Amino acid sequence: MSTLKLFQNDVYLKSVTVVLTEINKNKKGIDLVLDKTIFFPVGGGQSCDIGTIDKYHVIDVFEDGEGLIHHIISEHDCMLDTNTEIEIEIDWNLRFENMQRHCGEHILSGIFHKEYGGVNRGFHMGNDYMTIDISLEGNSNFTEINWDMCLNAEIIANEIVWQNEPVNVFRFANYEEAKDFPVRKPLEFDEDISIVCVGSPENPSDSVACCGTHPDTAGQVGFIKIYKVEPNKGMYRIYFDVGKKALLDYDKNYDVLTQLTNHFSAGTSDVMEKIKIREEKNKTAKDRVYKLAKHISSLEESNIRKTLSNNPTAYKFDILTIEELLVVGRNLSESLTSVLFLVHNPTNTILLFSNGKPDCGKLVNDNANIYGGKGGGHKESARAIFPKEEYIDVFIDLIEKHLR
Ligand SMILES: [Zn+2]
Repeated sequence: MSTLKLFQNDVYLKSVTVVLTEINKNKKGIDLVLDKTIFFPVGGGQSCDIGTIDKYHVIDVFEDGEGLIHHIISEHDCMLDTNTEIEIEIDWNLRFENMQRHCGEHILSGIFHKEYGGVNRGFHMGNDYMTIDISLEGNSNFTEINWDMCLNAEIIANEIVWQNEPVNVFRFANYEEAKDFPVRKPLEFDEDISIVCVGSPENPSDSVACCGTHPDTAGQVGFIKIYKVEPNKGMYRIYFDVGKKALLDYDKNYDVLTQLTNHFSAGTSDVMEKIKIREEKNKTAKDRVYKLAKHISSLEESNIRKTLSNNPTAYKFDILTIEELLVVGRNLSESLTSVLFLVHNPTNTILLFSNGKPDCGKLVNDNANIYGGKGGGHKESARAIFPKEEYIDVFIDLIEKHLR
């Protein structure tokens, strides 16, 4: 005997007393079967209800091919007995969120169908957003769904919500009974058909077969917000959310916008303009820094060139970068008759240059590790990085002594 689905006649039942008919082992916990239930089993793009059976936690609910609904509890020990009455309760917040989202998806899909002849070919109810895939196949009036069309659909969908149109579920025993009811998608089942109709059946805002749970008026949907549209496998994927989920997302995004406008001392209308001005200023400043660094590098290079001797010499730098110092060193290397040290103070890095004699790479390999330095290189140039500033001078002293 199949489980009686109480949610089909009253989606607002939050708790009821039922009879436990079966207890079975399940790999996730224990599988409970009841004579009737308010738990919606997973299906139709909607996740299942969670909640409690007696004091046990229901984590999964599904229907088998026999029409029995299985409630999986997370606990592995169950003190309940079959043929006894027990209290069951669903997580109402999750259920209502699902009802809002499911119904919002109906309304939006109905509008894309009515306005643009778009057919909903896919639906996904994710945690952060929902998507519908709208196909324009065989439609000669529209070749694309663009953002303006989405905004138009969004307004019309929300108007249906504001008008608080009724949401009715019409049930039919078989295809023959249901076939004349106006629906936006052909019926796929032969029996036990539920058609969810938003608005009047004579001129519905949406009408489609669905086994999910929906509120009984469109106003409870709250509001419908489209986030973006993008082409996907020859169709158009619409990202959106509904009700409380959409409101929470608005809160999150508005918080980011507020931080941005505060940061740029701007309002919503001019924050992008201020960001562009800031970017222009940054670009100008970056160009200027580049030119100044090049100028300083060339001054430093000519100063060093004037003071070069046959003895090792060291120069320390705070402003020029390692990359800029490498250019200075390479430009000088042909004129060198001993080792040249260019020290990059901010990173405790010593760059060594020579004309190949002495071998800079060997000097680093043989001596840097004495002071915890790391690095390497080749004959004409090498580098060593030290953990402490004071090791810089002692390393240079050591090399000078070594070369005498
Ligand atoms: Zn539905």
